[in-house]
Amino acid sequence: MFNSNDISLFLTVLKFASVKHRDQRRKDCKATPYINHPIEVAETLWRIGEVRDIVTIVGALLHDTLEDTHTTPEEIQTLFGAEVLALVQEVTDDKNLPKQARKLKQIESAPHKSTRAKELKLADKICNVYDIAHSSPKNWSLEQRQEYIIWAEQVVAGLRGVNQSLETHFDIIAAKAKHAITIKKDN
Ligand code: NDP
Ligand code: ZN
Repeated sequence: MFNSNDISLFLTVLKFASVKHRDQRRKDCKATPYINHPIEVAETLWRIGEVRDIVTIVGALLHDTLEDTHTTPEEIQTLFGAEVLALVQEVTDDKNLPKQARKLKQIESAPHKSTRAKELKLADKICNVYDIAHSSPKNWSLEQRQEYIIWAEQVVAGLRGVNQSLETHFDIIAAKAKHAITIKKDN
């Protein structure tokens, strides 16, 4: 179980991430506050994956800060330590690369990630594929949603072997999302 230092770190990280993402929204029609997503990823790790490693849980809360906000690696290192920084860096795309190269790199690098990073990426893909089915980015065609899920499946193929519950959950969410899109396409 988490001790009082863990709870303290968790709340400090949650506050930090909520401030960093405060002006951002997700891409769905309702423009959901961005911080909902990192919270969902952390909650998925905890509830579905039964992950009880504090570094992984706070890494989930921070997983998009380097990629999508002005947060620096130095800030994370100073405030939360080298282990947390290493995990967040492992799940951060290199934004200097063009989009298609970034997507290919995610597929190629997945098998070489640490266990923590694999679990975090599994939870991230679960949440994003769920959102594609239930609150897709606005203006995305059904083909685009389908392509996203196929790409996510390719990334997840390289993440397997670390957490059966997360992997099975991803398979269920992806199958349901593809089924829902197929039905929409047929109508
Ligand atoms: P993006 O990378 O632009 O968007 C997906 C990312 O946005 C997610 O990984 C997620 O990342 C974040 N996100 C924010 N809000 C949401 C939300 N509501 N639901 C889901 N994700 C959200 O898109 P892609 O480049 O991945 O495009 C998807 C697919 O469509 C690709 O396979 C691409 O090739 C294809 N495509 C097809 C087109 C077509 O017309 N057929 C046109 C363009 C692309 P995070 O969690 O990191 O924030
Ligand atoms: Zn994410």
